[in-house]
Amino acid sequence: MLKIGCHVKMNAPDYILGSVKEALSYGCNALMLYTGAPQNTMRVPTQNMKIEEAKSLLEENGIALEDVIVHAPYIINCANVVKKEVAELAKEFVLKEMQRTSAIGAKYMVLHPGSYTSATLDEGITQIANTFNTLEEDVKDVMVCFETMAGKGSEIGKTFEELAMILEKLNRPERFGICLDTCHIHDAGYDLTEFDKVLDMFDHTLGLSRLHVVHLNDSKNEKGSHKDRHANLGDGYVGFDLLNQVAHHPKLTSIVKILETPYIDGKPPYALEIEMLKKGSYDEKWKTRLL
Ligand code: FE
Ligand code: FE
Ligand code: ZN
Repeated sequence: MLKIGCHVKMNAPDYILGSVKEALSYGCNALMLYTGAPQNTMRVPTQNMKIEEAKSLLEENGIALEDVIVHAPYIINCANVVKKEVAELAKEFVLKEMQRTSAIGAKYMVLHPGSYTSATLDEGITQIANTFNTLEEDVKDVMVCFETMAGKGSEIGKTFEELAMILEKLNRPERFGICLDTCHIHDAGYDLTEFDKVLDMFDHTLGLSRLHVVHLNDSKNEKGSHKDRHANLGDGYVGFDLLNQVAHHPKLTSIVKILETPYIDGKPPYALEIEMLKKGSYDEKWKTRLL
């Protein structure tokens, strides 16, 4: 069965319970949430997040906790070697975020590797590895999944090789995974019309067993643009058919797919996008809704 979800909000007063309710309203059987606003690091204590109620609702609906993904806020930069304070804050926050993920009972925490800013790629990669190799505490039940990136600015992770370089420097690489974002790899220059080849490259460089989350997004820009602007399914340069193939790829059946596509006229598009993916076919009506 297709494991499909989307990113959902997490707001007071219902927090994670609200996130699960939102996901269910779209027909999701998986979801991804941020433990607060993705743009900042202010967080409420996990005791206030209605975790137990959320777990009961998940169970009632047959959704495994493993299919609830946490995404770390994208402002934390674990690759920053230029500013010591930023690096220290990133490290502290990453540990807390892993603890929150554990408290929620989720297993996978998606993280953008970071940007090397005015340093070098190599220094950035070393800094990411150091961040995790020197964490004061261990959060054994959480697996950090580095996300494939579009390569905007000095973003690390625009090639599978760069991600492999991070893993090579980690003391316990077996404790880390990868999240593959279709918009990002397209923007980074991978050709999704030959997705089998892309998966082979992934397998050779990183190992397919490391892949735990797929972000399913179309892209507003051409292949290799290094832009990172997500489009709704079928509304971008990748197209519905290729994304549908990724969603239903036989090698990826056990892997959660998460939509991070933009709202349309202030409304979430996920119920319709999920419906199309479940059917496996594009709905022409959907196109007219976009225009
Ligand atoms: Fe992301
Ligand atoms: Fe993503
Ligand atoms: Zn993105």
